[in-house]
Amino acid sequence: MDRWIEETFHPHWRVRLEATRVLHEVKTDHQHLVIFENPTWGTVLMLDGVCQLTTSDEFVYHEMMAHVPLMALQRPKRVLIIGGGDGGVLREVLKHASVVRATLCEIDRTVIDTARQHYPSIPGNAFEDARTEVVIADGLRYVAETDERFDAIIVDSSEPIGPSAVLHTREFFSDCRRALKRGGVLVTQNGLPFLFPAHLSGTTAVFASLFKRVAPYLCTQPCYFGGPFALNLATDDKHVLKVDAKQLAKRQKKRGVHGLKYWTPEVHIGAFALPAYVQQVVAAALDEARAKGKGAEAYVASASTPRDPSEAADA
Ligand code: SAM
Repeated sequence: MDRWIEETFHPHWRVRLEATRVLHEVKTDHQHLVIFENPTWGTVLMLDGVCQLTTSDEFVYHEMMAHVPLMALQRPKRVLIIGGGDGGVLREVLKHASVVRATLCEIDRTVIDTARQHYPSIPGNAFEDARTEVVIADGLRYVAETDERFDAIIVDSSEPIGPSAVLHTREFFSDCRRALKRGGVLVTQNGLPFLFPAHLSGTTAVFASLFKRVAPYLCTQPCYFGGPFALNLATDDKHVLKVDAKQLAKRQKKRGVHGLKYWTPEVHIGAFALPAYVQQVVAAALDEARAKGKGAEAYVASASTPRDPSEAADA
């Protein structure tokens, strides 16, 4: 008799997934981990009752977490990934020929080991890549103590519960800012704005108090039930948000980033066009930040966003 595994994250509704085979289940030092097979979603990873990824649709989230910040930068060389022990974001980051070193700081080694064992198609050979450095540590402590400086920091954390709660705090984000190179980019996952607007507004207000530019963007992640999924980008460099589709296409070609299944230059640009209800969440968060005397500019894409002439050099 197959087991049905429930996602327990939503207070008033539940999603149940049939587990035709449970590949691995353990309570690690940090969280409850279960990996199982499902006829529709393929291999599924759940942490503390929350669906983290499935082999059928992981490309959406991983491509949008990696390629939006990296394609927005002229020559990203040094990248830090916080969390992301499944190796999906790392895989996408290493597709950029300009990247010379990618550090992955994951708190729970079991996530890495079981990813390589039970769904090797996701990390591929990212963990064997000579440019990869794996650090098993709490991301909060790593960014507070590192002397390194990064072009991009990608926070591929779980929801703001359990070990991941600290990765959604002002303290963590301000240390991320300290660890960024000048003009660097910080990106974090921001949950489902339709169900949890406070997640997006909370991070937006903190980003607005730390950076000059805040730019939430969306993607459609089928296994994150509840509408469009938000990611949030922060930077002090205005150029990062003024790269048009033509330049993005040139960068993609120049860096040899091929075979993508979700990210395209047009999807990149369009992802920043937020539906009105999400714009309202962002606007309220920025008003809150301004009321506290520190406000960043909000970036909401529009068809008439002018191309920045200073970018000509890159064409
Ligand atoms: N895409 C997923 C999502 O949006 O829910 C996240 C996937 S990824 C598996 C999340 C990773 O963050 C997990 O491997 C977890 O162990 C790691 N993590 C949680 N808290 C952490 C912390 N404080 N420092 C470093 N990694 C952490």
